[in-house]
Amino acid sequence: MLPTSYSSTLVAFSLIVAILASYTALNMAGRVSSARGKASALWLLGGSFAMGFGIWSMHFVGMLAFSLPISISYDLDLTALSLLIAIASSAFALWLVCQKELPVMRLMLGAVLMGMGIAAMHYTGMHAMLMEPGIVYNPVLFAVSVLIAIVASGAALWIAFRLRREGGRVVYARIGASLLMGCAIVGMHFTGMAAAEFPLGSYCGAASNGIANQWLAVLVIVVSLAVFAIALIVSMLDARTNLLASSLDEANSELVKLALHDTLTRLPNRVLLGDRLEQAIQKTNRGKKHFAVLFMDLDGFKAVNDIYGHHAGDLLLVEVARRISETKRGEDTVARLGGDEFVLLIDPGEPEDASALAQRLVEIIGQPYNISRNVMHVTASVGIAVYPLDGATAHELMINADAAMYHAKESGRNSYCFFEKAMNTNAHQQAKLQQDVRKALENHEFLLHYQPKVVAPDGPMIGVEALLRWQSPEHGLVPPDRFLPMAERTGLIVPIGNWVIDEACRQMRAWQDQGHLDWTIAVNISTVQLGHTGLVEVVSGALQRHRLEARHLVLEVTESTAMRDAEASLIILEQLSKLGVGISIDDFGTGYSSLLYLKRLPANELKIDRGFVAELAQGNDDAAIVSAIVALGQTLGLKIVAEGVETPEQQALLTRLGCNSLQGYLLGRPVPAAQLPHSLAALKQSTVTL
Ligand code: C2E
Ligand code: CA
Ligand code: CA
Repeated sequence: MLPTSYSSTLVAFSLIVAILASYTALNMAGRVSSARGKASALWLLGGSFAMGFGIWSMHFVGMLAFSLPISISYDLDLTALSLLIAIASSAFALWLVCQKELPVMRLMLGAVLMGMGIAAMHYTGMHAMLMEPGIVYNPVLFAVSVLIAIVASGAALWIAFRLRREGGRVVYARIGASLLMGCAIVGMHFTGMAAAEFPLGSYCGAASNGIANQWLAVLVIVVSLAVFAIALIVSMLDARTNLLASSLDEANSELVKLALHDTLTRLPNRVLLGDRLEQAIQKTNRGKKHFAVLFMDLDGFKAVNDIYGHHAGDLLLVEVARRISETKRGEDTVARLGGDEFVLLIDPGEPEDASALAQRLVEIIGQPYNISRNVMHVTASVGIAVYPLDGATAHELMINADAAMYHAKESGRNSYCFFEKAMNTNAHQQAKLQQDVRKALENHEFLLHYQPKVVAPDGPMIGVEALLRWQSPEHGLVPPDRFLPMAERTGLIVPIGNWVIDEACRQMRAWQDQGHLDWTIAVNISTVQLGHTGLVEVVSGALQRHRLEARHLVLEVTESTAMRDAEASLIILEQLSKLGVGISIDDFGTGYSSLLYLKRLPANELKIDRGFVAELAQGNDDAAIVSAIVALGQTLGLKIVAEGVETPEQQALLTRLGCNSLQGYLLGRPVPAAQLPHSLAALKQSTVTL
């Protein structure tokens, strides 16, 4: 055998070339997978060339590092073929790592193909040496070298696949991986070289088409370094522009998201919903199907905000949004319009789908909420409009779903309701009414009427109940039933109610100044008012402002209001009672009080609901109820008032059953303060004639 030796400088160079080739290849893989279409194909082409050339030049420089005591030349065609094989296997490898997935089987197959490719390149390159007689290979080392090529390829493919995405930490990982891959490639090469034995007496068939050694070394190193440099620079520049472009993209989509989404719940907003509605209309027109719009509004959200504060209110809304999102189907759109209004677009959606979903939403939203260590309750009222039956445009659908929602609220809340033609006018009226009432407060269009409460059976008058009226320039004198339910729903009742308290105290002061020192004035307090944190301050403020002793003011709270959130009501009623104001349980007999709870209420008066009084006759059921209420009241030490007394028979019977005082048209209708003396005079006269 011929003795062999290596030039250590060239070996070092071959290692550097291998590492650089690996780094370039990894970079290129990143480019191929982040580019699209034509750009991606170009990167694949350029990448395979750079990588193939890299591997090949490593091999070639390695060959040149190797020296035999005879001079060596290479066959040009075979050398070119070995370069081609390197480029082809690189192309295959790059393509493989840029697929979406790399399952184990594919990785293994790729490793085998690429390893064989590299081995083929190496041995074709060896074969290009113009040696006579041929090289003899040690079969074991030969097999080991192929194995190393396969294993190294597998590792390289796996690493390249993992590192193909761009990013800061990837750079260091790539450098590490290139070192590893470079060493593996070099290892394969030198194992392959070790497998080669050159029989003694070999000579190099230096022919005319052979190329001389030292020139080649210089040429290959320079060219390959140039190729890497160009490939790397281009690749890095491209990555940088891409990074810039993608961060611009991100910023842009974040802006779009902000403009189209609600900031609190991150749900689509009104604008995006409008867009989706238009799309749904177009799609449905083509397919002749239906879609449905569910308009949801929370019942009792205002109270949560008022009692627990806005932060808790916000958290509750976020939780409601989450529950809706979890309940809806994947293809449906849920949006928040603002406040406590949500809309669900069910597309496609037949009426049956809509009612099933609405029912589920009502149930899920109605479950208790655990927020900031408080348990809160809200319910949802849902209105449904179906396209195209209930509206031809997005706007019409929304208006009609909203009208249906109002209807659901009106008919007892916590339910859903389909749109019907008749609701439409109603919705418009409601919206206008709300606006008008808002203005009424600013324009001082509210006033109070006063109805006497007299000692049974016929006086004297011991006080009045203040009853709200709206003197509307458009509608005339409006009774409270016409606008209070809406004011209650929208929270307008709070400012209106505050005005009532103040005005009643002012009037009472005026009467006291006229010498009526023993009268009391009763003011009605609604559920939302009682739930509002400011109530105690409002009451004490009004008393102070008008220099009124608290015992002259009575607050009437209906039985159902007091029972609604029993423990919370109790706390507020106790605070009010501590101020010294009287508490009267209004409409008694219509709610479902527990006796135990009633005992704890700091009330001093029960008002028998006028429903029992209306049909009252000797010996009937209502008479039995009234006498039971009287007995109960007496046991609890409460005064009993009967309201709605219209006939002398009722008057006589109620007095006999034990009521302390009476109120009703018979004894005096509600009148403006100025007419009260007149009304009292009439009362006296009627007693005289009795
Ligand atoms: P309420 O507290 O039960 O008030 C008594 C209602 O019965 C009044 O109706 C009164 O006009 C009416 N009424 C009085 N005597 C008779 C009678 O002999 N026969 C009949 N059929 N009715 C009689 P109004 O003024 O329309 O008030 C209705 C309800 O509106 C009140 O019921 C009360 O719940 C509410 N309300 C009135 N004013 C206010 C207010 O300032 N604030 C609040 N929160 N609610 C008010
Ligand atoms: Ca009342
Ligand atoms: Ca009443």
